[in-house]
Amino acid sequence: DIAYLNGEFIKRDQAKVSIEDRGFQFGDSIYEVIKLYDGQLFALERHLHRMLKGINRIDINFNYNLEELKKICKQVIKKNQDYPKSKSGSLYIQITRGAAPRSHEFTSDLEPTIIMYLLPTKKYSQALRKEGAAAITMPDRRWELCSVKSTNLLPNILSKQEAKEKGVIEALFVADNKKITEGSSSNVFIVNEGVVKTHPATDDILNGITRSIILDLDYHDFVVREEKFSLNDLYDADEVFITSTTKEVLGIVEIDDKKINNGRVGPITQKIHQKFKNYLNEYLD
Ligand code: PMP
Repeated sequence: DIAYLNGEFIKRDQAKVSIEDRGFQFGDSIYEVIKLYDGQLFALERHLHRMLKGINRIDINFNYNLEELKKICKQVIKKNQDYPKSKSGSLYIQITRGAAPRSHEFTSDLEPTIIMYLLPTKKYSQALRKEGAAAITMPDRRWELCSVKSTNLLPNILSKQEAKEKGVIEALFVADNKKITEGSSSNVFIVNEGVVKTHPATDDILNGITRSIILDLDYHDFVVREEKFSLNDLYDADEVFITSTTKEVLGIVEIDDKKINNGRVGPITQKIHQKFKNYLNEYLD
């Protein structure tokens, strides 16, 4: 398969970056994962817009605009047309501040490193979607700029690993104030008496693209809103679900060994997933 690296298209196993790249040494970089449905990039502009915001927030010297980036993303898909990943994989993008002699501080003139290539997609079986998944809660040990999608992911990966070792799908983060922020790689929603809540898009969470689409859609028989909720609210919820680019909407039916909705995926979770899929199909038409 073909990767994009700093203006060139080359075989992925030949794409190399410097050992002094700040993305490698400091996690000084921003990334995106964009899902492909039947060869089409879903919600491309939303992802690129978030990425440019993050790049701006951490002052990476980056001169591409949205249109130029869109073009490169599409070229990567085209160059990989013959590979199955170009149909239902994901496009991975990473922009680092660039390479320089190792030093915490940086200058504003560095050449950023730009990488794009296709990833295979994690599969979530129909059975899992129907039956729902389990999760654990863990302290949110991250910093105060979780809104920036940086590759500084140590707390996320260590939490996810612990979840995996406990045989569950996700670690849900509990902040110091006992509020639930999000998952290690997903956003969290609870349903309580017809009101669906998710943490507001502050710097305490990553504003997920899936999350933002769900908030933008219209619903008849319930409301979806941004509102903080506590660990107790999570345990007592009628329904819980998580969202992400690869998971879409996934019901959580057990948290820390406590059953949610008697261990079943609830009706509002299913309705929201259906609405999301309708949006997706319209987008791809
Ligand atoms: N929160 C975190 C910490 C994440 O890593 C992700 C996945 N990238 C999400 C939320 C979900 O975001 P999205 O819907 O854009 O995939």
